[in-house]
Amino acid sequence: MNEFEFIRNLREQTRSRHHSARVINGIGDDASVITQKASRDLIVTTDLLVEGVDFYREATSARMLGHKALAVSLSDIAAMGARPLWSLLSIGMPAETWRDKFKNEFYEGYFALADKYGVTLSGGDVSETKAGIVIDSIVIGEVVSGAAVLRSGARPGDQIFVTGTLGGAAAGLKLIEMGARLRRQEAVSRQREAGGRQQEAGGRQQEAGDAGHGSVPPAVAGGSDASSHDPGGSRQASAERSEEDAIQTLLLRQLAPSPRVGWGIILGEERLASAMIDISDGLSSDLAHLCSESNVGAQIQSESIPSDPDAIKLCGRRALDPLALALHGGEDFELLFTVHPDNVARLPKRVDGVSISRIGEITDQPNTIKIAEGNHIWHLPPKGFEHFVR
Ligand code: ADP
Ligand code: MG
Repeated sequence: MNEFEFIRNLREQTRSRHHSARVINGIGDDASVITQKASRDLIVTTDLLVEGVDFYREATSARMLGHKALAVSLSDIAAMGARPLWSLLSIGMPAETWRDKFKNEFYEGYFALADKYGVTLSGGDVSETKAGIVIDSIVIGEVVSGAAVLRSGARPGDQIFVTGTLGGAAAGLKLIEMGARLRRQEAVSRQREAGGRQQEAGGRQQEAGDAGHGSVPPAVAGGSDASSHDPGGSRQASAERSEEDAIQTLLLRQLAPSPRVGWGIILGEERLASAMIDISDGLSSDLAHLCSESNVGAQIQSESIPSDPDAIKLCGRRALDPLALALHGGEDFELLFTVHPDNVARLPKRVDGVSISRIGEITDQPNTIKIAEGNHIWHLPPKGFEHFVR
């Protein structure tokens, strides 16, 4: 397939899918043309994913990479309290990657997530690299004029909340670095998409269709090979199997994150959040960013932080500290937001099956972030992810 056949194919795919009527001219011209609406603000974001830095080709699938490329930008749109509508995606890859099935599977994952949220791909670019894959993902969303939720809106006394659970993606990354791999990747990811919406069972956050059920074949790699010597119901085998399930769920948190699009829209449209950021670098760093922009401080309670249940399950056995992962681990793509006390009672309990936790309060001491554990109060240094430090 040459470049022009490829673009023609993408163009046909976007036409046959959910197609935004406001895209007057999508893929196929020098630029796309989108009709504006009065009294709306556009929200525009871009994210770069570089092979070997932002992802490891050998640890993920093309399909999951397509999913993640869109997910990270949808998360930024959600963090602005906006509704995502259109996207652009540019990709560079080596010639040998162009020739294999990578690009088709990449777009399968991308379109599956775009369809879920009614996002129309309306342009992009493709080029060749000398080594490695580079992806630039752009999403455009919209809010009622003036309603974008900024990092700078937090005020002393506002309550601090976080969606979902924290530390799972960082635990997943640690497991990848230790050599853990997904079970047959395509089977897992297909199952995941077939599962559709997220559900929460008994306080434990789960993605419907996540690993570990039904027809998923045994692990192909990774630390434990529990499934290859199943003696038929011994207690040890089932403990190993549940550990293997926890590993698979954590790998998916890292490789195929779920952006909190529904929460973002509600927090923005109902004017519930005074400030918001998505947790991409880690709670300690992203809370510091929010406080710095708002010129306030924060105090959080360690026992209120929703550590990932699978990270807790594996902790100790693999030298993982779930609280440290929840505080400093990145890429959970949960939303961290502040709410004026008068609005707390108006918050929904859950959206798309995802609940929230109140973790602390905004204070009037600029840039001072503290964490309370019982009667002890410590300063919390920002120790999340940062490029160019090592
Ligand atoms: P240009 O020479 O201006 O870069 P292209 O031939 O690359 O033009 O692009 C032609 C059309 O195809 C444009 O509408 C562009 O947005 C679209 N396009 C190119 N690559 C992609 C891609 N990877 N995804 C979506 N649309 C693409
Ligand atoms: Mg081009």
